[in-house]
Amino acid sequence: MTQNSSFSPIHIIGGGLAGSEAAWQIAQAGVPVILHEMRGVRGTDAHQTDGLAELVCSNSFRSDDASANAVGVIHAEMRLAGSLIMACADRHQVPAGGALAVDRDGFSDAVTQAIHEHPLITVVREEINGLPPTDWDQVIIASGPLTSPALAEGIREETGADALAFFDAIAPIVHRDSINMDICWYQSRYDKVGPGGTGKDYINCPLDEAQYNAFIDALIAGDAVGFKEWEGTPYFDGCLPIEVMAERGRETLRHGPMKPMGLTNAHNPTVKAYAVVQLRQDNALGTLYNMVGFQTKLRYGAQAEIFRMIPGLENAEFARLGGLHRNTYINSPTLLDRSLTLKSRKGLRFAGQITGCEGYVESASIGLLAGRFAAAERKGEAISLPPATTALGALLNHITGGHIVSDDEPGKRSFQPMNINFGLFPDLEPGSIVKPDGVKRFRGKDKTVMKRQLMCARALADCRSWLGLPPAAPTIDATYPLDEGTVPSV
Ligand SMILES: Cc1cc2nc3c(=O)[nH]c(=O)nc-3n(C[C@H](O)[C@H](O)[C@H](O)COP(=O)(O)OP(=O)(O)OC[C@H]3O[C@@H](n4cnc5c(N)ncnc54)[C@H](O)[C@@H]3O)c2cc1C
Repeated sequence: MTQNSSFSPIHIIGGGLAGSEAAWQIAQAGVPVILHEMRGVRGTDAHQTDGLAELVCSNSFRSDDASANAVGVIHAEMRLAGSLIMACADRHQVPAGGALAVDRDGFSDAVTQAIHEHPLITVVREEINGLPPTDWDQVIIASGPLTSPALAEGIREETGADALAFFDAIAPIVHRDSINMDICWYQSRYDKVGPGGTGKDYINCPLDEAQYNAFIDALIAGDAVGFKEWEGTPYFDGCLPIEVMAERGRETLRHGPMKPMGLTNAHNPTVKAYAVVQLRQDNALGTLYNMVGFQTKLRYGAQAEIFRMIPGLENAEFARLGGLHRNTYINSPTLLDRSLTLKSRKGLRFAGQITGCEGYVESASIGLLAGRFAAAERKGEAISLPPATTALGALLNHITGGHIVSDDEPGKRSFQPMNINFGLFPDLEPGSIVKPDGVKRFRGKDKTVMKRQLMCARALADCRSWLGLPPAAPTIDATYPLDEGTVPSV
């Protein structure tokens, strides 16, 4: 490395998807970087190589459709922002239909080479054994879901025991507009008005005895994923997968997360439900609801099928399905400010999966933002946050504040890792969806497609404006048979 800059370096811990992207963004802004990566000296349980940005499992970056898919939009926004991860992925793409899949070795080699050849980046192969020394005045921790134990302990000491999780126990999250409110109703148990509540804070799905028994049978028969040997078995009684609860006794769920007490069916007040599934608002926008107490190890296909047996969820669209995995991540909504800096220690940022995003692309995108914010701070420039209408802004908002912290389950953390999805975007302005000429009535699905297309177009336009790029000609790859001119310009 030839260091040719008047700025002192920014340190990054972890050369995975997030750390590599952050290093690139900082160096491209003219600020030197020292990237500390432990592989080469110490491995993790999942990585196989010493390459930077190694993909530990699938080789897919998921959908590349920027016209109607939230992941495709984040790809496009990252490309606009000069992402190294996206440039290397594009260069090493392999055929995968509408998805962006990569040759994993070619991809990782390309990232490693670009980082090593950048004149402002120095790579040091070492494990950072605790919180960085205070004379490193600007640091980004991007050590990922498999952060080494010594560093994790340092983070835990700084943030508090409850603020660092080593497993995620994820309950499925449902798009609010896919829940059938002709069957479900809003009510808090015993109409309790908690802090900030109204007494109608939950969406309730009623089951009669036959429906409950059929549901329990399906749960017990459902195909579950086992834990990998190195993950251990992290069950503790406050957080059992629902299928394990069902196996412990047919009535267990009816006395646990599916208890019907204190709830009266607004559509049928005289008939007491045998069991009730409750969903709680998950984001400040009110577009996503999580299934309370429904963490599960069931396979994704089985989950969608079984959960759609619940009355009111027959057409449920899942923003994410449940899971239980080894994962190290912090309680970002309470610990980080909007620029991903730890509130308790100026100059210390977090990026990647450790912030509570999920997935290769999302992790890299938060690395991209952390890198840009850190470089701006070093150069004495104002930090410019991406608008909430962009995919980058929507994910950042979820991590740093959009998630609702549950206060009716004291001691429980409700923040769980999340992929980018349309539920994180603010809704469109009323009247944005215009029916094409000759169309009398939208079918529900068509309206959803149009809504997504408009959200994508808005995101890309706002991202261009955030980055100071000239507006692009409006391009909507309409799945709906639209006439030109019926789509509001964005
Ligand atoms: C088993 C497993 C399978 C997964 N499968 C998928 C999948 O199929 N698709 C998907 O999209 N996502 C998947 N993920 C999630 C994926 O790992 C992350 O989304 C992504 O890699 C996270 O990027 P990151 O940069 O935050 O962390 P990583 O890419 O893990 O990078 C973190 C880096 O920090 C280094 N490091 C850790 N501690 C220290 C330390 N103390 N000092 C120095 N360096 C350190 C590590 O060696 C690593 O290189 C999987 C995760 C796991 C654990």
